[in-house]
Amino acid sequence: MLNVKVRRSTMAEMARSEITINLGALRRNVTHLSAVAEGSELWAVVKANAYGHGAADCGDTALAAGATALCVATVGEGLALRRELPEPRIIVLGPSSNREVAQARDARLELVVSGDIPPDIPVHLKLDTGMGRWGMSELVRPDLDVVGLMTHFATADDDLDFAQVQLGRFLEATAEYTHLTRHVANSAGLLRLPEARLDAVRCGIAIYGLSPFQTDPADDGLEPVLSWHSELGLVKQLQPGDSAGYGRRFIAAEPTWIGIVPVGYADGFRRNLTGTTVLVDGEPRRVVGTVSMDAFAVELPGPLPQGTPVTLVGPGVPLEAHARHAGTINYELATQLETGSERARRVLLYS
Ligand SMILES: *Cc1c(COP(=O)(O)O)cnc(C)c1O
Repeated sequence: MLNVKVRRSTMAEMARSEITINLGALRRNVTHLSAVAEGSELWAVVKANAYGHGAADCGDTALAAGATALCVATVGEGLALRRELPEPRIIVLGPSSNREVAQARDARLELVVSGDIPPDIPVHLKLDTGMGRWGMSELVRPDLDVVGLMTHFATADDDLDFAQVQLGRFLEATAEYTHLTRHVANSAGLLRLPEARLDAVRCGIAIYGLSPFQTDPADDGLEPVLSWHSELGLVKQLQPGDSAGYGRRFIAAEPTWIGIVPVGYADGFRRNLTGTTVLVDGEPRRVVGTVSMDAFAVELPGPLPQGTPVTLVGPGVPLEAHARHAGTINYELATQLETGSERARRVLLYS
């Protein structure tokens, strides 16, 4: 039998968790990155709902801070964003079907094209210089509606030599067309490869204050925009031999206090975050047992009150650390948060 000590019940009226988006931090990141870009335009990449941060709010803030265009992945994302933001340039980075081209034209989007050039819509031609995904292998002669030429780095976050090779191929292929906007760099390229800045940089992860190198964002002058908080929903003591979570992955060796946090993998707190660290009342504590769909358990030093604040992501518990723990990258964790965000209350902050 578990020796369950229920303390106080407040969770019923509360959101299970709260995601705070600090648009002030986003503004500072964009200002900083624009300064790094030194005269080349900064385009804010807000695909995948701004990496889970909220596309319209982040896009609007980035533009106010000096970004000159927004980039999305699909025409669908572009149409949704256009409904919120009637003015700015919106560039669709991914491929589009014929039907989508017509919709994009009506919504005044710009398209990235790797094959036939559709008429009456501004397009950016994409060259495959080594990414081995979308992109044309040879540049067809750009005609009237072509406004930009681009390529995308495969390795700007770890292999700068290969990024240099890609840049060299791109510069050679586009040398005749310097009157068009040439854009190559993503966040890592902007931060590590100054010669890749060209006319515009397409900056995603860094504007959210996350590191493209999976290191401390502060090393590159960046400040995380997102933080995620919850609280202890239940506090109890396990007796030796008692377990927490599915599969009995954690079995108490001695009397152990644990707290149950009402956040699970359906909220975007991944199942393989077992063993990672969160802050309970500001102190680092270990996530124990298997993370389930709707909850996880955290080891406590003693019988803390129910309702004690828990920081899942924030100062001291960066997304990069969770990503390392889960064997993935901050990009994936951030975009997956979006999936679960209907359960979380989202709060916008401007500080
Ligand atoms: C997503 C994306 C970017 C932004 O990359 P970050 O590493 O997040 O800065 C830039 N260009 C293209 C084509 C992309 O798909």
